[in-house]
Amino acid sequence: MTFLGTGTSVGVPMIGCPCPVCTSSDPRNRRTRSSLYLSTPEVNVLVDTGPDLREQALRERLTTVDHVLYTHDHVDHIVGFDEIRAFCWRREDPMPLHGSPHTLATLERMFPWAFGNTARNYVRPDPRPFHDFEAIHLGKLTAQPFPVVHGASPTHGFLFTLPDGERVAYAPDVKTFPPESLGILHNVDLLIIDALRPDPHPTHQSLDEALALADSLAPARTALTHLTHDLDFATTSTKLPANTFLATDGLTLTFPS
Ligand SMILES: [Zn+2]
Ligand SMILES: [Zn+2]
Ligand SMILES: [Zn+2]
Repeated sequence: MTFLGTGTSVGVPMIGCPCPVCTSSDPRNRRTRSSLYLSTPEVNVLVDTGPDLREQALRERLTTVDHVLYTHDHVDHIVGFDEIRAFCWRREDPMPLHGSPHTLATLERMFPWAFGNTARNYVRPDPRPFHDFEAIHLGKLTAQPFPVVHGASPTHGFLFTLPDGERVAYAPDVKTFPPESLGILHNVDLLIIDALRPDPHPTHQSLDEALALADSLAPARTALTHLTHDLDFATTSTKLPANTFLATDGLTLTFPS
């Protein structure tokens, strides 16, 4: 599993910002827009297609995407849609796009040229609407979408059950979790959650909110993502509890760990 991007919607560095994190020479303070890639012997899964997808795919030398999962329809998670073309050219059948009915409707509205178009130089989408808590089977990998509260757009996280049984939860954009979603997230092997910045935000968890959530869910490990320039990697890392870390672009975790 590779973190393709770990930044908030504007990325880090932020355009025009002279702050110490944005001007830092520490590569761990460079954060492209949040996205995740999971690779098993059978399938390769991309979570979200943000504006940095091309750069991320080149950096990680990605060649294959078998399925795309969408968390929600905010611009920082969908606007790299057209970059999927490069993966479509390498496959015969259309690309399965798994999203909520709302997210898939937004994609169709924003990228109308692709939908229903079978021309090979376009993304050839195979939209597959998912429903809350209904497992999506991707070979021996399953992804269970769970709803989260994150502003006005319907938003989901995914609980992945990996081929060897480890459970990894991914919720990059979230303010609060409905009780039914919290109910499936206890004691996971890795909890990857939104920890935007130290200060509170109306639609994202702050660092303290993320740490409190992790404390209550008791995962084996917690990775914090969707980070702003308010979180310097080195100084923030020294303050985090055990088994908790800031995710970084390009970080690859192997399971079983
Ligand atoms: Zn986002
Ligand atoms: Zn800055
Ligand atoms: Zn969002």
